[in-house]
Amino acid sequence: MGSALPEPGDTVVMARVRRGVVGESRRVSHVVPVPRATGVPDQLSALCGAVLRRGETEWLSTLRGMPCERCLTVASRQAAAEVLRPAG
Ligand SMILES: [Zn+2]
Repeated sequence: MGSALPEPGDTVVMARVRRGVVGESRRVSHVVPVPRATGVPDQLSALCGAVLRRGETEWLSTLRGMPCERCLTVASRQAAAEVLRPAG
């Protein structure tokens, strides 16, 4: 699995696989960049590389359930890199 780092202008949302699609232990809340595009894509990749498919995914308006540790690790590294980026 690769990661899907957000591009500037992407929206970032929280999502998890719907109940019954996978076991409860795999229903973690992922951080998902949503590219600026027309239409709704059939699938999106979370920061950790997990693929979330339309119809199998629950979009979360708030952080709920168990967060995906790999997504949080990638997000925190990215945030640190942006903070430490030299001023241009
Ligand atoms: Zn994840």
